[in-house]
Amino acid sequence: MYDAIVVGGGPSGATAAEDLVRSGHSVALLDRAGRIKPCGGAIPPRLIADFDIPEDQLVARIRTTRMISPTGRRVDIPIENGFVGMVDREHFDEFLRARAASAGAERLTGTYLRIERDEMGSTVVWRDKATGEERRTRAKLVIGADGARSNVARDEVEGGDRIPYVIAYHEIIAAPGPRGEYHPDRCDVVYDGRISPDFYGWVFPHGGQASVGMGSLVKDVNLKAATAALREASGLADCETIRREGAPIPLEPLKRWDNGKDVLLAGDAAGVVAPSSGEGIYYAMIGGRVAATAAAAYLKTGRVKDLQLARRLFLKEHGQVFRVLGAMQRAYYRSDERRERFVSLCHDIDVQRLTFEAYMNKKLVKARPLAHIKIGLKNMAHLTGLVSAERV
Ligand SMILES: Cc1cc2nc3c(=O)[nH]c(=O)nc-3n(C[C@H](O)[C@H](O)[C@H](O)COP(=O)(O)OP(=O)(O)OC[C@H]3O[C@@H](n4cnc5c(N)ncnc54)[C@H](O)[C@@H]3O)c2cc1C
Repeated sequence: MYDAIVVGGGPSGATAAEDLVRSGHSVALLDRAGRIKPCGGAIPPRLIADFDIPEDQLVARIRTTRMISPTGRRVDIPIENGFVGMVDREHFDEFLRARAASAGAERLTGTYLRIERDEMGSTVVWRDKATGEERRTRAKLVIGADGARSNVARDEVEGGDRIPYVIAYHEIIAAPGPRGEYHPDRCDVVYDGRISPDFYGWVFPHGGQASVGMGSLVKDVNLKAATAALREASGLADCETIRREGAPIPLEPLKRWDNGKDVLLAGDAAGVVAPSSGEGIYYAMIGGRVAATAAAAYLKTGRVKDLQLARRLFLKEHGQVFRVLGAMQRAYYRSDERRERFVSLCHDIDVQRLTFEAYMNKKLVKARPLAHIKIGLKNMAHLTGLVSAERV
């Protein structure tokens, strides 16, 4: 009997397992293994600091972000006093799982099938990858961190089968040195209805490789054609394609992250990805961390209400950023005219500072009230059409 079994060994599950085991609990970490998570791999400095990520996990350091509008307007945002790190999920996730194991978590390799219950408690039934046999592992608590379209969420938590998502598709290519629009030290973010009618496209360098892709909620968008157009526009059409892959990005945190009994969700499984940006790695790891805190409280007191602590702690710290980013996505991602205005707004040095401080350090800074007022007014002027997108 473990204190907890964590289903899913991505950033969320590996963090939950490591934190719980370090607080003195017995933990099993189940991951099906064998598939690299499709991901752009961009992580902010706050993540690197908070989760003690070693230098050798970073395959590139990004010093500029370029926003590109539907009419081809380019706004370069320098990243002051730091960089955005790029990780390769094949190695990053394994590093996190191995760190949890060296802290004392027991690694199990196989696929979650279901949870069974009897008077003794809960049992996770899973298929062993090595033998193909069904195995049973008992635990007082199950943490479902099995990603977007989580089977644990679907089976156990109200609404867990109905999380809205963007489908994101990308191609991992062998990246050249600087050429065409491409530069290995710069992330390009493309706001253009021809690439995505409701989200954005990206070109993210990863050292010797790059991730080029886009996302959309619209069912009949041709993701491969849009990505081919993005590669063409960036001068990357001829580069060797190493992998083509797609995956959902959840759009909305679930109203409940626990089943009121013995299951708690974390990360993508709970629907937690930042609106507008689709940033999920940092929030998945925070989700793992608050799940471990809530789990430790529950294991100590036996009170199921303590499981709700995870969602409460998360929203207390990040709810406001999620609300602002959600409003931004609704306001600016709906037409090319709005996208043009959005990129235009990003010319403003205060907008650049505030958005980048929010991304890099996960704080909405309150220190510059005049800048907030100015941005608020500009925002209003753009949304009401009082200024044209050409004026900056
Ligand atoms: C194309 C794309 C690009 C993205 N780019 C970025 C980016 O640049 N930066 C960023 O911050 N975020 C990005 N994201 C979002 C980010 O990848 C996710 O939010 C993040 O990986 C969520 O972590 P997680 O641990 O919750 O889930 P996951 O990373 O999905 O991990 C889930 C784990 O569960 C395991 N699992 C699943 N089902 C089972 C099962 N039945 N049994 C056992 N194990 C199971 C899987 O093997 C996996 O290891 C991107 C997403 C996509 C799709």
